[in-house]
Amino acid sequence: LSVSQYLRNHIRTVPDWPAPGVQFRDITPLLQDAKVFRVLIDAFVHRYMDKDMRPDVVAGLDARGFILGSVVAYELNVGFVPIRKKGKLPFTTVEETYELEYGSATVELHTDAVKAGDRVLLIDDLIATGGTMMAGKKLLERQGAIVMEGAAIVDLPELGGSQKLKEGGLSLFTLLDFA
Ligand code: IMP
Repeated sequence: LSVSQYLRNHIRTVPDWPAPGVQFRDITPLLQDAKVFRVLIDAFVHRYMDKDMRPDVVAGLDARGFILGSVVAYELNVGFVPIRKKGKLPFTTVEETYELEYGSATVELHTDAVKAGDRVLLIDDLIATGGTMMAGKKLLERQGAIVMEGAAIVDLPELGGSQKLKEGGLSLFTLLDFA
């Protein structure tokens, strides 16, 4: 069994959530089993532990990107910074607004979270339209950081997000996809 297939077997698909017609890919079963959680985290750590792939800092996207990103950062012995939904970060922030299917969303980053020239690994659980990860990339780059790669567990290629991100110049690493 490949790592990808093993992990896929522990993703739960919830039909019609949060809205009718949506097939929600629920990653919580990957976290609740100690062994699966370890395989998951190690899949990221193994990619980024070598000197040439090692980031200076890991940035996690609200909220499941926090769960993954903080553990990966700890294992790589680098720091972790959160990119949060608007209104949650207490210090001065930069913000980026992006369009959703219905309405828009805004994410924020503390102005001192990264330094110019920092090589940042940007992590979330899943890439759908790519809007969330693109917003995170823009925030980090506005602060002068270099987003060396975006990483996620799941890609939904049919929504076009991963292609759009790659066209926007972001290297992407995902563990599995649902077509
Ligand atoms: P995007 O911005 O359209 O790429 O959507 C990705 C964001 O929405 C990520 O932060 C995901 O956590 C969340 N998301 C969208 N669809 C799903 C899903 O099916 N499962 C888990 N998270 C999802």
